[in-house]
Amino acid sequence: MNNYFIILASGQSKRFNAKKPKQYIIYKNKPLFEHSVEKAILSKLFKKIILVVKNKKQINKKFPKEVVILKGGKERSDSSLIGLKYIKKFRPSNVLIHDAARPNFSIKLLKKLTKSLKKNKAAIPTVKTTDSIKYKIKNELFNLNRDHSFSTQTPQAFRFNDLYRLSTEQKIKIQDEATLFIQNNLKIKFIRGENSNNKITYLEDIKMNKIFYGIGFDIHRLIKGKQLYLGGLKIPFHSGLKGHSDGDVIIHSVIDALLGAMRKKDIGTLFPDNIKKFKNIRSSKMLKRIIEMMNKNYFYINNIDINLICEQPKVSKYRDKITKSLSEFMSINKSLINLKGKTVEKLGLVGKEKAIACEVICSISQ
Ligand code: ZN
Repeated sequence: MNNYFIILASGQSKRFNAKKPKQYIIYKNKPLFEHSVEKAILSKLFKKIILVVKNKKQINKKFPKEVVILKGGKERSDSSLIGLKYIKKFRPSNVLIHDAARPNFSIKLLKKLTKSLKKNKAAIPTVKTTDSIKYKIKNELFNLNRDHSFSTQTPQAFRFNDLYRLSTEQKIKIQDEATLFIQNNLKIKFIRGENSNNKITYLEDIKMNKIFYGIGFDIHRLIKGKQLYLGGLKIPFHSGLKGHSDGDVIIHSVIDALLGAMRKKDIGTLFPDNIKKFKNIRSSKMLKRIIEMMNKNYFYINNIDINLICEQPKVSKYRDKITKSLSEFMSINKSLINLKGKTVEKLGLVGKEKAIACEVICSISQ
């Protein structure tokens, strides 16, 4: 097995609107390029893994000795050639070239590619295009037939000698190595790529993946002569919940969970109970304020899970109404909210029906 892997991570990220070049952006808890390096190591397919970067000083991680870090060139094709020239002395049979901006390929794909090189000079993963593509010749517009078009991905696998010869002879800057083979009418084996192996081109591609969690807890005493509100819903009951506001334990816990996930402190900081205007405030009003805050900061709710802890009223009787009420105050789909009832074997204040408690966990994204 005389395979080498070249990872190109020296791109300029012109379309990537961030302070750092995208290769160094943290994606799934590590710099983007590290995903490719680690998978290449894990696959045990390669004698050397060449990481071509813009600035070697920016790599402070210690990799195993088969990983070599090189400084790249101006364009992608320059960097690729730097990698190829470096490995030439090892007399490689095969080389795989990969863009670090595709961190989600599988090790299975690496195996398929190297295997394909037994019978082919080049193996390239492709996926069907899902977008409608138009192209323009002079001033005329044409539709590209989707059945006959596909996108190429990386890693792309080549017999080293063929790719080396073509790369050193190339005159124009190419977008990927497959182009060299196509331009020279050389046969390429196309294999099925992976839809998950998408290229991270825009900052939005990464931002979508961020998930935050928050938890909330609340407990209020039950007192006679007060209206009971749970999840913003008026519930006929012999007592209500004592508190500065309407004492709605569900909404208070939901608010704290959402604030926690947004990392914006807690309900007491936002609505201090020594301030008059919050006296007897309906909790649903506070919840609406939190939702406004989320919208302003581009957060959206993935799901909310609620444990209502009490002997009475029976949660099963009000479950649908409470989740519907909450979904309306939060302007989200009811299916994102789950409400569970929990009794406490008649233990403690809650068990003796002197208090109602609630806990909530939520997940949000930005
Ligand atoms: Zn409360």
